Amino acid sequence: MTNDGVLVDEPGRLAALARLAVVDTPPEEPFDNVVSLVRNILDVPIAAVSLIEQDRQWFKARSGFEATETPRSASFCSHTILKHEPLVIEDARLDVRFANSPSVLEAPFVRSYAGIPLCTPDGYNIGSLCAVDTRVRRYTENDLAILGNLARIVMNELELRRIAGRDQLTGALTRRGFIEAAEQEIVRFLRYGRPASLMLIDVDHFKSVNDTHGHPMGDKVLRHLAASISSAKRPVDVLGRLGGEEFALLLPETDVTNAGAVAERLRRTIAGDYVPIPGFGELQITASIGIAPVRTGIASAEDWIAAADAPLYAAKRAGRNRCELARAA
Ligand code: GH3
Ligand code: MG
Ligand code: MG
Repeated sequence: MTNDGVLVDEPGRLAALARLAVVDTPPEEPFDNVVSLVRNILDVPIAAVSLIEQDRQWFKARSGFEATETPRSASFCSHTILKHEPLVIEDARLDVRFANSPSVLEAPFVRSYAGIPLCTPDGYNIGSLCAVDTRVRRYTENDLAILGNLARIVMNELELRRIAGRDQLTGALTRRGFIEAAEQEIVRFLRYGRPASLMLIDVDHFKSVNDTHGHPMGDKVLRHLAASISSAKRPVDVLGRLGGEEFALLLPETDVTNAGAVAERLRRTIAGDYVPIPGFGELQITASIGIAPVRTGIASAEDWIAAADAPLYAAKRAGRNRCELARAA
């Protein structure tokens, strides 16, 4: 930090952001919720969780505009992260830093801005939680206090994601994170007899996606798939990426019959949610799904995954793009 309070350790800051493994992951409910709270409580038309990478700002959550990212140079939030204090602008037209910004001169015609830096426990500002208005306005102490509390919630969520072990490509839990969640369900079953089901979801002929369109497009397909599963699942269901193109979904309080119905709906969602591939058109992805309920005899998450792997294998053999249930033991 220099003596006017401007933060300068940019490599450290970028490394802190990279450790969170959040940039380019699909939307997630906790962040969407915070952004809609900001809009409602502060009565602003635009709010966002903005993360500042080397050359761009990327939005983990946004409301009131379409862009998923902008150049860093055009962003208000890149100024917010320079200090450990809120940045408040009453009228952007009167501020030399912003008067000529595209978002001020053109739609959405930004006039006022309040941003709170998102600060990691080790002191790096990785982005900001911001409220934006198209009217000139003053933000009260109370507005900023609320925004500050919500920014802390965002930061806690980002830390929890990191600790839980999120997969960098898709935002799903890593294998380790998923296994922990599955073991908790096994404990609930053994103690209280609560039902739960586990689905293994394996992309069909994924190797040919990579072979035909290249590995980066394969990655894009995996992100797209994780996003469509995330938006189709219930909030309590837990999505993990077990490796490669194999995902798993944990369904608490769901017996195998209901899980079968969920799987069938998910299978159709995946097959209907075409992936745009530049220069090619729309690519249809299908997946095969194996489903197993928790039951006595399943002592570990690995046992449970194996129990779902048998029907998955059967679904593949039967022609793919199918769901199969585990046979009753
Ligand atoms: P099947 O219908 O039998 O499941 O066929 P498949 O081609 O999907 O199965 P297979 O397991 O043979 O191929 C999986 C491929 O996934 C091979 C591997 O190169 C690719 N893969 C694994 N991890 C990643 C990744 O992170 N990104 C990309 N793009 N490809 C990956
Ligand atoms: Mg596959
Ligand atoms: Mg596979």
